[in-house]
Amino acid sequence: MDLGIKDKVAIVAASSKGLGKATAIALANEGVKLTICARDRDTLFKTADNIIAQTSADVLPVVCDVSSTEQVKNVVNETINKYSRVDILVNNAGGPPTGEFLDFSLEAWQKAVELNLYSAITFSKEVIPHMQKNKWGRIINITSYAVKQPVDGLMLSNTVRAGIVGLAKTLSNEFASDNILVNNICPGRIHTDRIIFLANDRAQKLGKDIDQVIEEMGEDVPVGRIGKPEELAALAVFLASEKASYITGTTIQVDGGLTKSLL
Ligand code: NAP
Repeated sequence: MDLGIKDKVAIVAASSKGLGKATAIALANEGVKLTICARDRDTLFKTADNIIAQTSADVLPVVCDVSSTEQVKNVVNETINKYSRVDILVNNAGGPPTGEFLDFSLEAWQKAVELNLYSAITFSKEVIPHMQKNKWGRIINITSYAVKQPVDGLMLSNTVRAGIVGLAKTLSNEFASDNILVNNICPGRIHTDRIIFLANDRAQKLGKDIDQVIEEMGEDVPVGRIGKPEELAALAVFLASEKASYITGTTIQVDGGLTKSLL
């Protein structure tokens, strides 16, 4: 299937590793020109080289902490300077710390809001005027299945990510007439550094071996295993494509059936 996005320009946030990286690679495979970002320069630039070697795509790496408004603005400015347009935005960030309500100071709440909600607001605010000019845009937020079913011990994630759903649905209504489509993807358990971090946390709390915990995390999933980053990236690329032209305001999980809710 020709997805119709060759030569479109995408910003993929938090993309030196994991789900962001897999999404960037999948977009590059469709001929999309990329800006990627993350905080650690060495890993980011290695990822850029790696994507160029695999796909021959144009890749602009920009060091950025997505919690910083100024640094997000810089990513968008650098993208416009290089490509003169931006068509696709994939909002993504690292995960907030694990813990329950009384574990967190108000500062920790503030940081989680800046990381997992405010970053998407800032990026969206900066790119939408550019998308409006071309009457074409796709915004995809990578969130978590926690927005459909709160996950025990992830108080910050459960709370802050819910705001993304409200943001996306409202943006999808406001900007549909500009042909800017906004959707959320909810990873369940996908094999990245984040899942290793969560498994390690659980292993320590339960006094178990981390490999055993990872295996158990897979057994819990109806399809019987943890997912691969490229399985999430496939949906991201489809939602970013011309073929997804009638899909907006949705929140779709990629979780092997893990979420128990009806919708
Ligand atoms: P990951 O493998 O740990 O990768 C995180 C990526 O984000 C790295 O490139 C990291 O690079 C970058 N990053 C982290 N904090 C950043 C910041 N403040 N500014 C810019 N870049 C930042 O994580 P992942 O599994 O891909 O997860 C992506 C998102 O999906 C997270 O929010 C995670 O909680 C959520 N999620 C994941 C799963 C899963 O199963 N994997 C499930 C539910 C939700 P630097 O550290 O160099 O910045």
